[in-house]
Amino acid sequence: MKDLTQFFDETSFTYTYVLFDELTKEAIMIDPVDTHLNDYLNFINKNQINLRYVIETHAHADHVTSAGNLCRATGAIAATPVHCNITPAEIQLSDQQELTFGKNEKIIAYHTPGHTEGSMTFSWRNYLFTGDTLLINGCGRTDFQGGSSEKLYNSITKVIFKFPESTVICPGHDYHGNKFSTIKDEKLTNVRLANKSLEEFVKIMSELDLPKPKLIDKAVTANQALGLVCHAAE
Ligand code: FE
Repeated sequence: MKDLTQFFDETSFTYTYVLFDELTKEAIMIDPVDTHLNDYLNFINKNQINLRYVIETHAHADHVTSAGNLCRATGAIAATPVHCNITPAEIQLSDQQELTFGKNEKIIAYHTPGHTEGSMTFSWRNYLFTGDTLLINGCGRTDFQGGSSEKLYNSITKVIFKFPESTVICPGHDYHGNKFSTIKDEKLTNVRLANKSLEEFVKIMSELDLPKPKLIDKAVTANQALGLVCHAAE
């Protein structure tokens, strides 16, 4: 089995990741989606994976997590950004906190606010899991949940873009069929960020005029409970 597996949710265009230590079969999952719980459990059983942690990059507004149910089913521990108010998570991650797993594996959390106040990016091996902070040729919106274009610009240019150029970007979503990118490619070609000043970036973000996410009122509350609350049908 590969060290990294990417799952895709076609409804919300969300990417979910399994980070796998080949030596011990221990793993971490990032941003699991509620409707794919059985897919993940089948994958875990088939590959005899020992799931150690389930991590969220932020409290999502566009889909509900299956982190709580995954932890219940596997014995994994939930780890979420401290400023996201995901209160049932056993580990409340702060900036630069590390989680270890497998024989010699270490994942590091970086506070990268802007899409939401609490959003985090995670570094593991040569990969960077950017959630909705940095997307391929784009970035997360900044107009709700404590979002801030200024903070997003600083998170991307002063934290994410400081990683080596060959670092592989693993985004939280993609709406165009792209799976991975690199720091180098995003620095060169990201339409919102490449050679853009803070002022230019803030102007671009202020002119996006995006519709409110359909699920936001229910999803954020459900995600702050790790997906373990019943939420009424639409
Ligand atoms: Fe998001």
